[in-house]
Amino acid sequence: MAAMNAKTLVVRNGTLIDGSGKPSARNDAIVIEGNRIKSVGALPPDILLEDRRNVEVIDAGGQWIMPGLIDAHCHVSYGYPMIKGEGKGKGTTRPEFSTLKSARSVQKVLRSGVTGISVPGGTWFTDVGIRDAIRLGLMVGPRMYVAGRMIVTYGCIEDDEPSWEGTPDHSIGKLCNSADEMVTEVRRQGKHGVNFIKMADSRGGESQMLAKEEISAVVAEAHRRNLRVGIHSRGAGSTRAAAEAGVDWIIHADLATDRDLEAVAKGGMPIIPTATFLATVVELGKTVGAEQVQLDITRMKRHFDLLCELMHKARKLGIKLLVGTDTGNNSFTRYGELHAKELEIFVKYGGYSPMEAIVAATRDNAFAIGLEGQVGEITPGKLADIIVLSKDPIADITVLQGGKHISWVIKDGKPVDLEPHEEMLAFQHAAE
Ligand SMILES: [Zn+2]
Repeated sequence: MAAMNAKTLVVRNGTLIDGSGKPSARNDAIVIEGNRIKSVGALPPDILLEDRRNVEVIDAGGQWIMPGLIDAHCHVSYGYPMIKGEGKGKGTTRPEFSTLKSARSVQKVLRSGVTGISVPGGTWFTDVGIRDAIRLGLMVGPRMYVAGRMIVTYGCIEDDEPSWEGTPDHSIGKLCNSADEMVTEVRRQGKHGVNFIKMADSRGGESQMLAKEEISAVVAEAHRRNLRVGIHSRGAGSTRAAAEAGVDWIIHADLATDRDLEAVAKGGMPIIPTATFLATVVELGKTVGAEQVQLDITRMKRHFDLLCELMHKARKLGIKLLVGTDTGNNSFTRYGELHAKELEIFVKYGGYSPMEAIVAATRDNAFAIGLEGQVGEITPGKLADIIVLSKDPIADITVLQGGKHISWVIKDGKPVDLEPHEEMLAFQHAAE
């Protein structure tokens, strides 16, 4: 594990939004020891603020304090930007370059106030490597909970090569055309350190590509090995099958009928709608070059509208929604910029209050990084992932976006250096 902060860290003053849904309140002192929150409330008498050798103080006077954001759907190792020698698709033919780029990308994510990400699919075992480098203290970055290459059958999303090619090793899909092949892949990925298995049905939900028995086989094997299962499912049939097979979360579910959603409610798993990607495509569609990506704006708009309806239906049925953006899925979903846009969509179109959206993106999203009950709330005993903002996100939920109003990021009890170094800026330029 990374070295602990030797000093006691105290966040004084400011307004506290603790992630539990309780109304904002005046903060006196949040005391952090090691990587955990020790106390919240009045400054304990044994903490001497003048003792600068042992105590570090952050004065958040006039500012807002809340748990670090979690993005429940963020890709790290896809092959963008396209440069010479890389693959043309989302995969990447050069893992060495991709790994370094991924390492840089996650630092941008952290500096924008996102202290945890769930990574539903990537290339090679890049994401496992980046997660471990952060854990071991080789570099700073958010907490990462990662899948490997997503399990697909012929015709699923990310099965982009002709059948005589299959899915090459640099693809983000891994072709498995039977339950046996899928189980073998679960075992292989488990051996190499993934936290969860990503399955993927058809691209737009136009047809059901995975049999319920196949999903069940993956769930049984993954759960036996302490791995979770997330599935890309836009279609009605696949959402119902996934719910009945007991996956841990469903991504999208926009074409699900009321009956399918009842199956999800019965299964008790959350949905990660991920409207941000669609909103970004619809909003930027006109400015993004047509040669860069095939954009079907009308179809995307329809999916977006369905997801907004889903947000309302889910509440009625008691289905929990988690907050994810699909950052890193394409060259226009840039790191550090979109992670809080989903909260704006939840508020604007989903019937959520700003406080409810914040709870979803912090306390509830902790589930998507395997740390439910341990992070995402500012209460004693929790892991100390905290951000300080110069503007009130309850008054305007958009101030969370792009890290523009971030004053401090504390991850695992340690303040993060928010100024990237010169050479990193040069790299950023070269890579974009
Ligand atoms: Zn995705």
